[in-house]
Parts: sequence; structure tokens; C-alpha cells
Amino acid sequence: MRTLLKRPLTVPLALFLSSCAGFQSGSEPVVLKRTQLHMGTLVSITAVSSSHERANGAIDAGFQEIKRLERLLSTWIPDSELSRVNASAGVTAVPVSPETLTVVRRSLQVAEMTGGAFNIAIGPAIDAWNISADPRLPTTAELDVLRPLIDLQAVHADVWERTIRLDRAGMRIDVGGIGKGYAADQAVLAMKKSGASAGVVALAGDIKTFGRLPGRGTFPIGIQHPRKDGAVVALVELQDEAISTAGDYERFFVKDGVRYHHILDPLTLQPASGCQSVTVIAKEGILADGLDTGIFVMGPERGMELVEHLDDVEAVIVDQSGRIHVSSGLRGRVRLSPDFPESAETR
Ligand code: ADP
Ligand code: MG
Repeated sequence: MRTLLKRPLTVPLALFLSSCAGFQSGSEPVVLKRTQLHMGTLVSITAVSSSHERANGAIDAGFQEIKRLERLLSTWIPDSELSRVNASAGVTAVPVSPETLTVVRRSLQVAEMTGGAFNIAIGPAIDAWNISADPRLPTTAELDVLRPLIDLQAVHADVWERTIRLDRAGMRIDVGGIGKGYAADQAVLAMKKSGASAGVVALAGDIKTFGRLPGRGTFPIGIQHPRKDGAVVALVELQDEAISTAGDYERFFVKDGVRYHHILDPLTLQPASGCQSVTVIAKEGILADGLDTGIFVMGPERGMELVEHLDDVEAVIVDQSGRIHVSSGLRGRVRLSPDFPESAETR
């Protein structure tokens, strides 16, 4: 991942957390929540378990797993596996762990599902815009030179050799659009192993829930309003599901009245323009996270068409004009905010 700390309150809100963190009465299960900074963002982990000690142990296990994955996948860490793959572009195949191989292979699958809208070879264009650090407007000529590097045919993930090879010098893989969802999945596995009966792992807007919330059952999650800090457009109840949001309000700059943000259309190498935010619900965080970015690029019409064709995948899309689109499987499950003026346009 190559991310910097984002503005606060720009993510789906786990609204229940403030009301239930840290309570215990008699033989009731314990609910504990802790927050740390990892993968360039605030990570909150909530665990439900039979004792304080167990809940704390499960939270530790979740954070440990996220730190371990960050050391494999972060492109901010010069000797991470992914950094070594990028440094060897055009030179040699690099042996990698099963986890890195999984993230890259699943990324290639999401690329196929989204017709190339999701493209982890986007790295050189992300660098040219530099939106996470010191944003700038690259020239068309500059972007044209990079185009041959943004080619998924030149990314080879070999399951037998357990290697990744990038064919051309200058190529750079960026898993910022999918890695946090995977980390949420893996952290949940670690928490279950260490005895948590339920919980939530939230890496900013990439959230995975498991088990049942005591006294309530499902986990209510708020979807952030893309234009009003701290307001939500909708609430949805989750159980053993992941939810992931990609938005043009997370990292952006405005120049001459135009908003430039961090999700790029691999065809134009310009910020994708069809949506303000895309929220995807799926069983796996890796899929929800990959698809939110890919669907953001595809735009509301083609994106929603894809969602309707996929089993166990739902979406809430706020399009460029602020209208909200809800997938058919979510209707009746999602509550739109009465304060969201455009909700009348729901289809
Ligand atoms: P985050 O939650 O960190 O904002 P998103 O899921 O919204 O992540 O994806 C945005 C990130 O994905 C960008 O910061 C960049 O690293 C990467 N990215 C940008 N455009 C694309 C694209 N078309 N395909 C794949 N990844 C992309
Ligand atoms: Mg994503």
C-alpha cells in the first residue's frame, strides 16, 4: 500500500462502537475496541470474547497480522516484498510469500471482472500525480510515456514458482486499492483463531465484521456522505460480511475549480469522473475493496450492471451529480438518511 494518513471522518462510520466498547456485566461477553495507526491509516479493531484477557489477545492478534501484511505489501517500505518486485521490474522474477501472491492474483481477477478498470499496474501514473504526498498535474505527454508500463499482460504471478515478474523496467504494482480489504480478512482470521466470537476490523473505509454483536446481532455501519464530513448517506446492517468504500473525497486537490483525486481511469490516466463514492458489500474484504475501486472507475451504470450480475455482492453508489443508486439485493436492507436530499432519486 502506498497511502498517507487520510482526513478523519471520511470513512464509513461504525456507529455502534462508541455505545458498546468496553462493557461487561456478569457473564455477558466482553466487547473491547482499540485503535492504532497502520498502513497509513487509522485501524480500529473491536473484539467480542468471554473475558477481557481473551478480547485483548484477539485484538493484539488482529494488529499483529495487519503489521505483518504491511511489511509484505507496503510500497513505502523499501524492502517489502512488493517493493522488491517493483525494483526488479524488467530484470527478474522475485520469490514472494503466499499472501503477496494471493493479493496479486486476486487483483488480476478483479481486473478481469471489471474489464480492466481495476488495474494494479497503475503505479507509475499514481506516482506522476503524487496525490498522496505533493499533488501535481502531469502533462498529457508525460502520461503518454507511462502508458506502456500500465499493462496487466506484463504482470506475471506464477503459482508454481511462487514468483512475481514485471516485464518492463519502470513498471510498478500498487495494491492500495485492494490490500486493506485483504488485511481486514486476514486480521479477522487471526482474531477467530485467538478466541474472539465476534468483532470488527476497520482500516478506515475497509471494514470486515464477523459473528454477532451482543444484544443486537448485526453490526450497523454508516456510509459516509461524500460531500459532508461526519454525515452519513445510509445505514446498513452487516453480519459476516465486508464493506468497503472508495471516494473522490478521500485524497484530492482542487485546481481551477476541478477536483483531482486518487482513483485513476487506466484508459485516460486521469481521475475517474463518474462517481463521488462507491460502497461495496461482499463476503470477502479483498473482493469488496478491489471492486469499490474498479466500479468507481466503471461509473454508476456499468458498475451497477456488474454488481447485479455477481452473487453475494451489493453496492451503494453516489454518482457525480449526487444521486444515490442502491443494488436490488440491498433494497429493504439499507436505510437512506432522511437528511440526504438526493435520496428521492434512488432507483
Ligand atoms: P483507499 O481506501 O486507500 O482510498 P481505494 O480502495 O479507494 O483505497 O483505492 C484507491 C487506491 O487505489 C489509490 O490510492 C491507488 O493506490 C489505487 N488505484 C488508483 N486507481 C486505481 C485503479 N484504476 N486500479 C487499481 N488501483 C487503483
Ligand atoms: Mg478499493
